[in-house]
Amino acid sequence: MQEIESFKEVISSPKKIVITTHHKPDADALGSSLGMANFLLKKGHEVTVITPSDYPSFLHWMKGNDDVLNYEDKKQQTKANKIIADAEVIFCLDFSCLSRLQDMEHAVAQSKAYKVNIDHHQDPKDFADFRYWSTDAAATCELVYELIVELGEKEAIDEDIADCLYAGIMTDTGGFRHPNTTKNVHLITAELIDLGADNSRISRLIYDTNSINRLKFIGFAITRRLVILEDQQTAYFAISKKDLRKYNSKTGDTEGLVNYALSLDGIKVAALFTEREDGVKISFRSTEEIAVNKFASEFFDGGGHKNAAGGKSPLSLKETTEKFEKLIKENQKTLFNQLELIHEKN
Ligand code: 5GP
Ligand code: MN
Repeated sequence: MQEIESFKEVISSPKKIVITTHHKPDADALGSSLGMANFLLKKGHEVTVITPSDYPSFLHWMKGNDDVLNYEDKKQQTKANKIIADAEVIFCLDFSCLSRLQDMEHAVAQSKAYKVNIDHHQDPKDFADFRYWSTDAAATCELVYELIVELGEKEAIDEDIADCLYAGIMTDTGGFRHPNTTKNVHLITAELIDLGADNSRISRLIYDTNSINRLKFIGFAITRRLVILEDQQTAYFAISKKDLRKYNSKTGDTEGLVNYALSLDGIKVAALFTEREDGVKISFRSTEEIAVNKFASEFFDGGGHKNAAGGKSPLSLKETTEKFEKLIKENQKTLFNQLELIHEKN
């Protein structure tokens, strides 16, 4: 309570504000950042959104996209470092530990600015002066909406802000399908539509703007790169750098691929291993009863939500998938424990 009073006080007069989010931002990361940025701009602040990396082109429609600085771009990084050093307030959205900023971590950690963390991931690290955090929220965009309402500023949410926030809620609930799709999600979504969010347009912009290369890549991955461990109710994709090059893959082209593995009847754990320059990036997904975030943090230096988590591996792609297969077989009991208990009850 005291914290929110101090936050209100801080933003009650125009400030130099930086908004940032996690590496390789998704729709919730970028939507919450630009939604908040557009709100703060309206309130008279000087606002810069800086992302630790680039993000998929299907998010470029959001208002403010053209002014976002990409820290991975060397020229923009020099400019970004100056703006971070001068910032009076830094918003950290949709992540709970500064290491998810990757190369940008140092600049933000060094800054003496008042830090705000708005997030819905497990186990937040204690780096913020004001934390607006709930794991019950399906998306950071849901929390940004609630915070703006709590500030008594609901009428400041215009069509552009509503579009940004709607995008994050739509994608983090998997199109209103995941177990995190609560009554509150539907109520807030209804409010956002009322405030001008163009729901069917946003759905089209995000889900139905595939390039032919991406569609062919998904076809290739499903026919040639999908491994099914039937006894373990597990399926995974392993995508090499060569595969990505062959299909001229762009940032965002692998997004959603892991869901095809989870869509298989009888599959309860799905993974996507993508070979990158600096190691293997991993996405995990599971059905409601299984917690993959614990598995990700214990074995793959990661974390996330119960049914959608991520991690990384310094090993080769082949060594990483071998490690995964071994771990899945060894940990079947603990990983599937809750599931077995549910079955026993029935
Ligand atoms: P995705 O598979 O879509 O990249 O990520 C799924 C969820 O796990 C997201 O909420 C994302 O923020 C989180 N996540 C992805 N990679 C990592 C990671 O390396 N560390 C942690 N702590 N969380 C991650
Ligand atoms: Mn999120």
